[in-house]
Amino acid sequence: MNRYPKRDDLRAMSGYHSPQVSVKVRLNTNESPIEPPAEFVQDLADAVRNVRWNRYPDRAAHELRSAIAALHQVSPANVFVANGSNEVLQSVLLAYSGAGRNVATFEPTYQLHSHIARIAGATVVQGKRNADFTLSESEVQRVLVEHQPSVTFLCSPNNPTGMAEDPAIIVSTINRAPGVVVVDEAYAQFSPYTALQLVNEDSRVAVSRTFSKTWSMAAARLGYLIAPTWMIDDLEVVALPYHLDALKQVAGTIALKYVAQMERGVADVVAERERLLREMRSLPLTVWPSQANFILFRPNGPGREATSGPGRAVWQALLDQGVLVRDCSSWEGLTDCLRVTVGSRAENDAFLAALRMAVSARD
Ligand SMILES: *Cc1c(COP(=O)(O)O)cnc(C)c1O
Repeated sequence: MNRYPKRDDLRAMSGYHSPQVSVKVRLNTNESPIEPPAEFVQDLADAVRNVRWNRYPDRAAHELRSAIAALHQVSPANVFVANGSNEVLQSVLLAYSGAGRNVATFEPTYQLHSHIARIAGATVVQGKRNADFTLSESEVQRVLVEHQPSVTFLCSPNNPTGMAEDPAIIVSTINRAPGVVVVDEAYAQFSPYTALQLVNEDSRVAVSRTFSKTWSMAAARLGYLIAPTWMIDDLEVVALPYHLDALKQVAGTIALKYVAQMERGVADVVAERERLLREMRSLPLTVWPSQANFILFRPNGPGREATSGPGRAVWQALLDQGVLVRDCSSWEGLTDCLRVTVGSRAENDAFLAALRMAVSARD
């Protein structure tokens, strides 16, 4: 072996992992259980034939950005599009963080915010959420004043805890932050609140969205940012040329013709979420409220094995019955917690049956 050492600041890091185990019921990555409309698939198949494969794609993604702008009633100059909202976040961090700058997160929250910030060379400063996972004004204030972050992340609804951030705290964070504030709204359509109306030329706020969850298009890797025009200009400096392929551009544009179908799918998932919450609350679990398409919960009681608490044991018992959920039990601030994605009715029934078995086996 003749390995060459990677960057010193990456030595302690490992890649982002969400196990893709082959099981009957996969409820671990917050995808939509609903396939996109058949008409979408048909339109897309037709469009594939018209892609000019020998040519580079439209670098500015005009059509797709116009369609997204129309959806949110902003100008296309307020829209940045990338390969998943993860690449959107990476672009923001490349433009505004980097070596010698601080990036603020409030934990527990989406792990990729701090992960990508570190890869961009920034120093991550992690504020803490309250015991009920809400944000406190004083903690936000402390982090902003002490660390003067160039980028501050909020996540609403917050992954993996499930609740939307308090709108008043979003506003006060934006007013006090010395740098850019990103509100990650990967799950906004499941929740009654959005920060979109706070985006304007004089604010330093940006809202990120994704096609991966509500739009039933995780396979496409497509996300976007709504932000002031000066920020979009800055992001175009760091984006690779032609980073968004022609097929993806056309897939996103066509998807936006089916807003009504998307909204019906979201309503179905929300109804299933409420049913799951009701059922789960009758079991020996701590269940947190959710305004997203997933639910955070913690099995009660001591672990059977000294090495693992009830969280890991219940995760394994679910997996043994063919149901995969997200194991958050070793994440900081989430001891013994698991996160389940709201699936189809049949998947949710399978999960509930497996969960009843898993927790009753523990009594
Ligand atoms: C799933 C998720 C995303 C989506 O990332 P993509 O790269 O668009 O698939 C972004 N932010 C949060 C908080 C998420 O949970």
